[in-house]
Amino acid sequence: MKTKKETEEIINILRKCYPDCKCSLDFKTPYQMMVAVMLSAQCTDERVNIVTKDMFKKYPTPEKMSKLTIPEIEKMIHSCGFYKNKAKSLHGLTRKLLDEYDGVVPETMKELETFPGIGRKCANVIMLEAFHNPQGIAVDTHARRISNRIGLSDKKDPEQIEKDLLKRVKKEDYFDANHLFVWHGRKTCDARKPDCSNCKVNKYCNYYKKLNKE
Ligand code: SF4
Repeated sequence: MKTKKETEEIINILRKCYPDCKCSLDFKTPYQMMVAVMLSAQCTDERVNIVTKDMFKKYPTPEKMSKLTIPEIEKMIHSCGFYKNKAKSLHGLTRKLLDEYDGVVPETMKELETFPGIGRKCANVIMLEAFHNPQGIAVDTHARRISNRIGLSDKKDPEQIEKDLLKRVKKEDYFDANHLFVWHGRKTCDARKPDCSNCKVNKYCNYYKKLNKE
């Protein structure tokens, strides 16, 4: 397992590799971020952006969204996959926001995680992107793969992986680490064909070391 120092070095190298990395979901308000990240489960950000482009034009606020029935929402988000569950979550989270928070997205992980369709990963993304106040590291499929391959965590469960990451990543690096793991996964450390020979952090990577021993 990597030390804190090695983890810091890895993050510094990745920072140089992806100086412009940022969230790829489109949104203008914390509510729109909440909706976009909920829809992004098992779906690409590109697809979510296509769906939310029209949706946020017509229904930009929880007040406007609350006029829609679940079947109407289902029709709108159909192409995002798991649309029945997501429509129920979108309807439920909008209602809860209006009923319990006057339509204002709360700014704590604890409260965010009580909304339908919002687990720890989504709450982490909302705190990071909507409030610029990261509380942890969102472990999506890319962060999970990279953590396991490099040797930042040997766990499979995202929450356990996050715990391992938080022991190694400095708080001031949370912001960049969230983006860097996703970008490295998309651009270099592909699930099927990782570009290990061109990867700038390969000297730290357990997966790469193992490949070269075989
Ligand atoms: S060396 Fe290969 S497996 Fe390791 S992080 Fe780089 S691309 Fe991924």
